[in-house]
Amino acid sequence: MNYLDQFQDRNVVRGLADRIAQLTAGRAAPMTFMEVCGTHTMAISRYGIRSILPSQVRLISGPGCPVCVTPNSYIDRAVAMCRIPGIIITTFGDMMRVPGSSSSLMEQRAKGADIRTVYSPLDAMALAAKNRDRQVVFLGVGFETTAPAIAGSILTAARQGLDNYFVLASHKVMPKPMEILAADPELKIDGYICPAHVSAIIGGNAYRPLVENQHVPCVVTGFEPTDIMQGVEMLVRQVLEGVSRVEIQYSRVVSWDGNKKAQEIIAQVFTPCDAQWRGMGTIPGTGLEINDAYAAFDAQKAIPVEVEELQEHAGCLCGEILKGKIAPSDCPLFGTTCTPEAPVGACMVSSEGSCAAAYKYMN
Ligand code: SF4
Repeated sequence: MNYLDQFQDRNVVRGLADRIAQLTAGRAAPMTFMEVCGTHTMAISRYGIRSILPSQVRLISGPGCPVCVTPNSYIDRAVAMCRIPGIIITTFGDMMRVPGSSSSLMEQRAKGADIRTVYSPLDAMALAAKNRDRQVVFLGVGFETTAPAIAGSILTAARQGLDNYFVLASHKVMPKPMEILAADPELKIDGYICPAHVSAIIGGNAYRPLVENQHVPCVVTGFEPTDIMQGVEMLVRQVLEGVSRVEIQYSRVVSWDGNKKAQEIIAQVFTPCDAQWRGMGTIPGTGLEINDAYAAFDAQKAIPVEVEELQEHAGCLCGEILKGKIAPSDCPLFGTTCTPEAPVGACMVSSEGSCAAAYKYMN
């Protein structure tokens, strides 16, 4: 048995499920726990975690998929930029098929726009170095997890005097949206399965204000089935004890203070700003924009474009799904008009989206 196998051991998972069932036996109202990380969303569906939990424990997904929470207006700006002759747009693959108000990057590429899929911002930078007569724009979408690498690319570009590399930044930060959802009486969230990758950067201490203000238990949890089940058990125990505190189940990766170096790099290049979240509107202080010192690399400032009027997709309920108010199967378009092959909304496009997870694993 290798190191990773231990975290997928069926007997351990079954034992944890039995313990959770014993702890919650006889409870009338279910406990609702929300995860806010696309990788957790996929892992919970992939391992069939919901099917082995008792009916007293309900898992719902929140705004954890970075592509899904990115609003149409951002896609519309990227689409407007790619129409400028000479510009090369670079992006992670997931963004290609996300529909904007009237088009997607995939559609624009088919029409001749120079849009390239890359695996990291460094690939985009290398492209800029090779094409000094072209403007290369990297679509910087993600949470605290991707922000350090993008900030690092800007610092490197500055050091190298690369004046044709730009980032169209749309970074978002946790845990403020979690606090807003915890205060929503309609949701009645009893605890959070806190994101693992994000927490590796921001640290477990970042959730203390959320716990103090909303009295909601928080457990930073890993991605393997035993991690998730143990995280759920820790949340159940807090609820039963009537306490709310931050706990770290994923201690093999996440510390209380997080990654200081990554935090410093983020602070060097970005400054907090208000951010628009799909389904949640504008939330103050939950975005990261490129600061004045590195404004020359900010695509939004350096490459002005006229953005089309914002339109949402009729019938798509991504906004409600991202708030955890409905499940993907509650959307009338799920699996009929909207499939991974022909997605209507971002939650079906992204490999970390709730609708894509529910469709792929049918749960
Ligand atoms: Fe939007 Fe499709 Fe999900 Fe419905 S199933 S909410 S249309 S992405």
